[in-house]
Amino acid sequence: TIGMLALDAAGNISGACTTSGMAFKMHGRVGDSPIIGAGLFVDNEVGGATSTGVGEEVIRNVGSFLVVELMRQGYKPEDACKEAVSRIIKKKPEQAKTLQVGFLAINKKGEYGAYAIQKGFSFAVCNAGKQDLLIQGKSIY
Ligand code: ASP
Repeated sequence: TIGMLALDAAGNISGACTTSGMAFKMHGRVGDSPIIGAGLFVDNEVGGATSTGVGEEVIRNVGSFLVVELMRQGYKPEDACKEAVSRIIKKKPEQAKTLQVGFLAINKKGEYGAYAIQKGFSFAVCNAGKQDLLIQGKSIY
């Protein structure tokens, strides 16, 4: 999945995501990307979140909505993403070492963060006044 979150000069948040889905998926499978609240969620009062990885687990946990709601409660974006992936592996402890789900989030202050279950989830940041950055997201494993 490619997910994008933006905060514009007026302080408005927007988001988008796109995916080819999972390899060897069943015909007709719908992943998390086209489901608002799962693969993508934006609340302009709070922030936005998007996900990548095994969409079924993101859907079951209404992942991107969860990340935004955690930010509403005061979690920083990275902490909200970490809590969301932690809840997913708590429900699937036997798959924790192989299952991949990652979240990326931004809040109204322009703070951003990401967290994945497995290593290898990186993201880019583009800020009008600064250079583009490629950041290695943190992971549980
Ligand atoms: N989240 C996507 C899906 O489950 C897979 C991906 O990360 O590209 O369809």
